[in-house]
Amino acid sequence: MKQFSAEEKGFHGTIKAVVEIDEAKGQINKVWAENVTPNTIGAAGIATWLEKANQTKSVEIDAVSGASISTGALRKAAITAANQSKVLSIKENVDIVSGASQSGSNTVKAGIPEPANYPLLKDEITEYDVDTYENEFDVIVVGAGGAGLAAAATAAENHASVMVIEKQGIAGGTTNYSGGVIQAAGTNLQKETTQFQNDTPENHEREYMKAGEGRVYQDLVHDFTQNSPKNIAWLAKMGIKWTNVYGHTEIPYAKDYFADRIHVYENGGASGNGIILTQHLLNYSLDLGAKITYNTAVVGLITNNTNNQR
Ligand SMILES: Cc1cc2nc3c(=O)[nH]c(=O)nc-3n(C[C@H](O)[C@H](O)[C@H](O)COP(=O)(O)OP(=O)(O)OC[C@H]3O[C@@H](n4cnc5c(N)ncnc54)[C@H](O)[C@@H]3O)c2cc1C
Repeated sequence: MKQFSAEEKGFHGTIKAVVEIDEAKGQINKVWAENVTPNTIGAAGIATWLEKANQTKSVEIDAVSGASISTGALRKAAITAANQSKVLSIKENVDIVSGASQSGSNTVKAGIPEPANYPLLKDEITEYDVDTYENEFDVIVVGAGGAGLAAAATAAENHASVMVIEKQGIAGGTTNYSGGVIQAAGTNLQKETTQFQNDTPENHEREYMKAGEGRVYQDLVHDFTQNSPKNIAWLAKMGIKWTNVYGHTEIPYAKDYFADRIHVYENGGASGNGIILTQHLLNYSLDLGAKITYNTAVVGLITNNTNNQR
């Protein structure tokens, strides 16, 4: 076995790919990455990429959508490393625009692959239009962002069989790019770390309603403010370590209801730290038996509308 390595710049810094090759057999034995910044979208994508590379003993694995900068860099570095061995000659086939592999693209315009798009189907599809269902689940969640993963976790906790369908190659969606901070009123942490000892979800709701100037949906605000403390505790159960609470700038016409309510967890608070939340939600859901399918866009719903029976 011989090891070869090469480096490429990923989203958070330079990633090193190490490829172990069995030169006698002329094949890749193992691939791994070094200098990966933990708790980042890139790290989640790299874990996915390496799993596929090691399963297939190949470095010609497509970059992972949703984490294509870092996994594209790893792919490039791994191919460069593998080609240092005289027994392999792998062609680098990467889209210079997106950093992702060109394989799988449908159309090419002026030499550039067009991004895949998944418009929703306009026609209604009924169960009479499809022959068979391959699988059946109690709950199907469309999209593995914060909202979808929370729904999946709740359904799985309640013993439903759950399938999450995600169009990207990793879970997390926009939530991965967020700071992951969550506002809540009346928690123990708020009492321990701020001067706001008597804050309540009702106060929190009043602040949002005032600040929203009549343009926010009260049922949603009510639901959010009432359940936020429970959600903080629920996420703690999954391993999120809440560390401190701070406040936003006071809004002059809502200041009667102001309090420090922004809850931050360990390693959270900066853009991109939301990945910590989504990974906890994902792993918790998977541990409870939920399933997830990646790289699959939902384009319509199959209904049992009997009017459309053929
Ligand atoms: C930079 C930034 C910082 C932020 N910081 C905070 C913060 O600290 N605290 C806070 O509370 N909010 C914050 N927000 C707002 C917060 O991130 C969003 O409101 C929240 O992430 C939305 O979650 P979601 O689950 O609705 O959507 P997403 O997280 O975007 O999830 C939607 C998912 O659905 C998938 N999807 C879409 N269509 C399909 C389809 N047809 N088939 C299959 N899958 C599909 C997407 O790929 C995606 O994974 C921030 C936002 C940004 C951009």
